[in-house]
Amino acid sequence: MESKKIVSFKSLNKTVGRFSLKERTFLIPQMNRIGGHLLAATFRGFGIRAKVMDTYKGLDLGIEYTSGKECYPCQITTGDILYFMKKEKERLGDAFDPDNYIYFMPESSGPCRFGMYNKYQRIILDSLPDLNRLKIGALTTDDGYSLSGLIESQRVSDLRRTSYFSVVVADILDRLLWRIRPYEREPGSTDAFIEESMHRMENIFEKHGPGKEFDRILDEMEVIIKEGKDLVDPGSPKKPLIGMVGEIYVRSHVHANQDIIRVLERYGGEVVNASIAEWMNYTSYDRLRDAKIAFRLSMKQLRFGPMKEHLKKIFGYGSELYYQEFRQRKVYDRLASLIGIVRDHKIGHLEEVIKEDDLFSFDAGTEACLSIPGIMEYAREGFNGVVNVYPFTCMPSTITASIIKPRMNELGIPYLDTPYDAGIQPGREAAIRTFMYQAYQHFNQHGRKAA
Ligand code: SF4
Repeated sequence: MESKKIVSFKSLNKTVGRFSLKERTFLIPQMNRIGGHLLAATFRGFGIRAKVMDTYKGLDLGIEYTSGKECYPCQITTGDILYFMKKEKERLGDAFDPDNYIYFMPESSGPCRFGMYNKYQRIILDSLPDLNRLKIGALTTDDGYSLSGLIESQRVSDLRRTSYFSVVVADILDRLLWRIRPYEREPGSTDAFIEESMHRMENIFEKHGPGKEFDRILDEMEVIIKEGKDLVDPGSPKKPLIGMVGEIYVRSHVHANQDIIRVLERYGGEVVNASIAEWMNYTSYDRLRDAKIAFRLSMKQLRFGPMKEHLKKIFGYGSELYYQEFRQRKVYDRLASLIGIVRDHKIGHLEEVIKEDDLFSFDAGTEACLSIPGIMEYAREGFNGVVNVYPFTCMPSTITASIIKPRMNELGIPYLDTPYDAGIQPGREAAIRTFMYQAYQHFNQHGRKAA
């Protein structure tokens, strides 16, 4: 082949990867609002110019630059970055320089399409004047979203631990919102209170995050939870409890899922969505699991060199998982009982649940490993219904739906699949109302999980 016809992928190596954040603005896409803002605040505390981008305002651009076959989160995030850059160009004029930013788009090694988002977005950015120099910061699940190389090596561990802590605190703030809002005395008061609380926690994280003053941060959360309790109408009767699982982006992004939690609340439910920390624990657990499998294989083959390497990994990943689960437990121990916030399941326990009925396998990976046993646990714990929220055509969530639907029928637990894309499904609201009617029937017959 003539050399000029050889397609070069150097852009994927040179402008997608791990880059120093020094002197650059780190652009964080908004998946769940609170989580994104607390993470950005943590990064700012460590001296990084981190900013959460507006979301959904550039959906038209996302649709324009995609074919329609991509996953919905890819369309939304493509629109977000193109819209942000457009606005920055307008704001800065000739002073605009794409090299001043790092756009954060993590990835996973499959088996689904998440690993392709940043490659696809790279191709789009390369096709636009100026934006070919915008770098994509791609952290990967393969190394548990390691932050090495982003800042000075001696601060990486602190940044990682505080970032994880911010994710857990954001999960609790979200759960506080869903715990209070269905019972609020004054309509709208919870949303305003949580928004203000999020900004309070941003300040706290910027100030106390770098020193890992976790108790000081939790002091503020305790105050917030106590204030939040005052918004609840004490005379309001308990409502059916609905568990939510699904694809992490769409189930966390209120625009993408057309604010399904609010719709469920409108028809009488109280909702608990799966957390973000659960996914982070899963990626750590999965790497530890892989290292253990590789160790056993090299032991069988008597290959001592690889055995040593895998042992080292087992120790590293094991300590990381232990730290995360320990830290998460500490936070919930202190805060959950103040208002009855539902706790996460341990990932090891979820794998046991999957094995009991041979429903799926962690060997296959993906979010189905969390959703399938998560739903089974909701059913056992006395939730009154379960909703699976995901992008239209999402592979792991479609697997979840196919496996779990017959199980829920057997168990007599109301269950609803809600795939989303940029369109409005005319029958969706009717489906949610019907589901909530069934959840009420279940609630009246069986009661609900004790808060
Ligand atoms: S989890 Fe679903 S939406 Fe996300 S990349 Fe995979 S297939 Fe696409």
